Amino acid sequence: MFSKPPQTQFLENSEVIFCNSSFSFRSAQDAENAFAEENSASYIYSRFSNPSVTAFCQRIAELEQGEKALATASGMSAILSLVFGLCQSGDTVVCGGGLFGATVQLLNKHFAKYQVHTHFVFDKSIEAWCQQIDQLQNVKLVFLESPSNPMQSVIDIKALSVELKKRGIILAVDNCFCPYLQKPLLLGADIVVGSGTKYIDGQGRLLSGYLVGSADLLEQKIFPFLRSGGPALSAFNAWIMYNGLETLPLRIAKHSQSALQIAEWLEQQPAVQQVYYTALPSHPDHRLAMQQQSGMGGGVISFVLNGGKKSAFCFIDALTRFSITANFGDAMSAVTHPASTTHVRVPADIKQTIGLTDGLVRLAIGLEPVELLQNDIEQALKKAVDG
Ligand SMILES: *Cc1c(COP(=O)(O)O)cnc(C)c1O
Repeated sequence: MFSKPPQTQFLENSEVIFCNSSFSFRSAQDAENAFAEENSASYIYSRFSNPSVTAFCQRIAELEQGEKALATASGMSAILSLVFGLCQSGDTVVCGGGLFGATVQLLNKHFAKYQVHTHFVFDKSIEAWCQQIDQLQNVKLVFLESPSNPMQSVIDIKALSVELKKRGIILAVDNCFCPYLQKPLLLGADIVVGSGTKYIDGQGRLLSGYLVGSADLLEQKIFPFLRSGGPALSAFNAWIMYNGLETLPLRIAKHSQSALQIAEWLEQQPAVQQVYYTALPSHPDHRLAMQQQSGMGGGVISFVLNGGKKSAFCFIDALTRFSITANFGDAMSAVTHPASTTHVRVPADIKQTIGLTDGLVRLAIGLEPVELLQNDIEQALKKAVDG
């Protein structure tokens, strides 16, 4: 899928790493010329740009089919740069209801201090989105996750983008859950944001983040903040992500296949009240999700256990092949209790509105043989039921 990296005189067979904080110039005049332009094509200093980071950006732009990509130290610093770059005091960011916990904190707590307001839309219908947006002042940006974490709520990206274009509002989509499968830019989004920490790395080692979209928007609005603010991606992390991308299509297909098999089985279990997974026909937006996500659901399943928090904790503690951790996209499987961990700071009324209850468990299905995972879930469910 990706072209081979350029080689140096040693003809190395994989990309080299450029561990250089700064770059030198042949003359004082060359240095003056390079510093004169904000988006200089020459390398100056690795807070601005670095060849290993550029190589990663080119591949991630290819993956998301955008004109240009920028890389950041983490997914959150990509979101920080997005809002800092696009919004000013008095603006409103309109968000989907089921956002990542740290994104809610960043907007509600930190940007609120600078009078950048946040409005959450809990409805999935495009009419409801438009109606609410039209009642607000200075909406600069719409930010959403589809499918959302952990409730897997799906939004029609194409239909919403048509409405936002009419209103001159920028649409940014957080594509952490379905990289490779879903291409929000092709559906009409202006910017894709992602955390490379999840599926791009794929082995739970390092953090990274990225933004992809039109060169104009990224160079004029977002890059100036990155250059001065400094949430730069390290060359080593960029190199790991660059290589991780080569196996992403195979991995995400395997994560999705195993997750679907487990989700179908979970749905049949009497101890399970409800399963949230977009590739299940029982998901309320199954058809739309399968259109947007190339027919696959990704590796994360959420489900509700009868018996609330007590059963959920009992189930989680009884699992032997799932680490208790907040990460997903790792080759190794993981389990999370969102209400008490990743989403503990989400206000109670929001949790209730999106259905994030104490009985909810999130599984991140890894690349282990699926039978081993299913057997482990089966024995843990039995323990949760028996108390
Ligand atoms: C993990 C995650 C982020 C943040 O990414 P980091 O690399 O941890 O900073 C943002 N959005 C979603 C949906 C995530 O899952």
